[in-house]
Amino acid sequence: MSVDTVIAGGTLVTADRTFEGALAIDDGTIVGVGAAEQLPDADDVVDATGKYVMPGVVDPHVHVADPFSIDSYETASKAAALGGTTTVIGFAFQGWNPATEAFDGSYSLPEAIDSVRERGADSLVDFGVHGAVTEETDEGLEDLAEVVPNGVPSIKMFTAYDVGLSNGFMHRVFERLAALDGVGVLHTEDGSVCDVLTEACKREGKGDPVHYPASRPDYAEAMAADDAVRMALETGAKYYGIHTSCRKAAEVLEAAREDGSRVRAETCVHFTTLDESVYAEQGTLPLFAPPMRTPDDVEAMFEHLQAGSLDVVSTDHCAYTEASKQVDDWWDSPFGANLLQTGFPVFHDEAVTQRGFGYPTLVRLVSTAPAQTFGLPEKGTLTPGTDADVVVFDPDASYTIDAADNESKADFSIFEGREVTGRVEKTFVRGTLVADDGEIVADPGHGQFVERIQPDWSA
Ligand SMILES: [Zn+2]
Repeated sequence: MSVDTVIAGGTLVTADRTFEGALAIDDGTIVGVGAAEQLPDADDVVDATGKYVMPGVVDPHVHVADPFSIDSYETASKAAALGGTTTVIGFAFQGWNPATEAFDGSYSLPEAIDSVRERGADSLVDFGVHGAVTEETDEGLEDLAEVVPNGVPSIKMFTAYDVGLSNGFMHRVFERLAALDGVGVLHTEDGSVCDVLTEACKREGKGDPVHYPASRPDYAEAMAADDAVRMALETGAKYYGIHTSCRKAAEVLEAAREDGSRVRAETCVHFTTLDESVYAEQGTLPLFAPPMRTPDDVEAMFEHLQAGSLDVVSTDHCAYTEASKQVDDWWDSPFGANLLQTGFPVFHDEAVTQRGFGYPTLVRLVSTAPAQTFGLPEKGTLTPGTDADVVVFDPDASYTIDAADNESKADFSIFEGREVTGRVEKTFVRGTLVADDGEIVADPGHGQFVERIQPDWSA
C-alpha cells in the first residue's frame, strides 16, 4: 500500500506538544503520524528537515466579498494560503445586497448564507461563515432556527454602527441562541459613546488620524462587552468576543468566563503587534475599529493569551486599497486593513521569536482553539482521520514584508518593511499543496464550504 504524501524529517506541532516525526496523507486526510519508517510508502515525500509541521491556521474572523472588503474569495484565499491559513470563517450579513453593495433588506439570513457559498466557489482554502443579524425583525429571529443547526452555529451581532442592535433585541437573539445551542459573536463598542466622541472630533476639526483612538475609547469597548456578556450568561447562550483590543475589555471578559464553557474571546494580530503610535506613522492605513491602543494594552493582550483568558488570535482581515484610505479626515476612511497573508508570520515572530511563546501555544491560539470553538472537528489538529490541512514552516528564514507580494486586492500592508523571522514554506489544504515557497500552485475552487457543528465548549 502506498499513500499520496509523506511529510518527513520535521518537528510536528500540536496544541499539546512538539515531537520528531512524520505525517502520512492520503485522499485529503491525515492517515498516519509517527516515525517515518513506520509509515507507508508515498508517491510524494516532502523533506521537512529543520522545519515545523503544523495544522493549518484557522482564522475565524475575516471579511471577504462583504460590506467591509473588496477582496473576492479567490484573492483573499490566495493571500490566506501564502500565509499558512487553510480555513477562514467569513460573514453573511442579513439585509446586504451583494449586487448593489448596500444594506437594503433584500437578503434574509439564509439567503445571505447561500449567497456567500456561491461567492466562495472560487476559494482556494476551505471556508465557513458566521451569520450576522443586522435588523430587529421577528422574521430574522425565526430564521435562526433554520441557520444555527445547519452548518452556521455562530451569529454575529454589533453594538455599534447602523447595523448595531439595541440591547433589548440582542437579548432576544441570545434567548434564541441559548435554545438552539448557538454562539453569539460580538463586536462590542458602545455605539452612542463612539458617535458622540466622533461628532466632537468633527466639530473640533480633529481630522488627523492621531485623534482617532480617542473617538472609540477602551471604556466604550468594555462597557458594551459588559452588557453583552451579561445578557449571554443570563440567557444561557455561548458568547465569543471578537477583536478584544484593550486591558479593560479583556478584564470584563475574564471576570465573566469561569471555565470557558460559556464565554470565550479573541484578540487580533494587530492588537498584539502595534499600538496607537501607528496613526502618526501610517495615517489612516491601520484605522480599525476598535483602534490600536496603548503599549500597556498590547502587554495586556499577551498576559491574557498566556493566562488563557483570551483563547484565539484572528486577523479581522478587511481589504481596501491605499487610495480609498487617502482622505483628509480620518472619519472618511474605511475601517480595516488586509492581514490574511501576513498575520500568522507576524504573530509568530512577535509571540514566539520575540516573546518566547512555545509552538504548541502558537498552534493552540491560531488553529486548534478556533477550530474547536467554532465547530470544526476536522480542522486544527494532526490527528489521523482529520483533514490534511498542514503547514510546513521554516522557523529560521527571515524576510521583509512587502505589499508588492500581496495576493489580496488591497495594495498596502500595515506591516510594510517589517522584518520577520519564520516563513510559511508549504501549505496543504485537504492534502493538496496550494502554496509552495511563496507561490500559489493550485487552482482556485479547491476550497470547500465547511458546514460547522454546534460546538461543545465544555470539552
Ligand atoms: Zn471584523
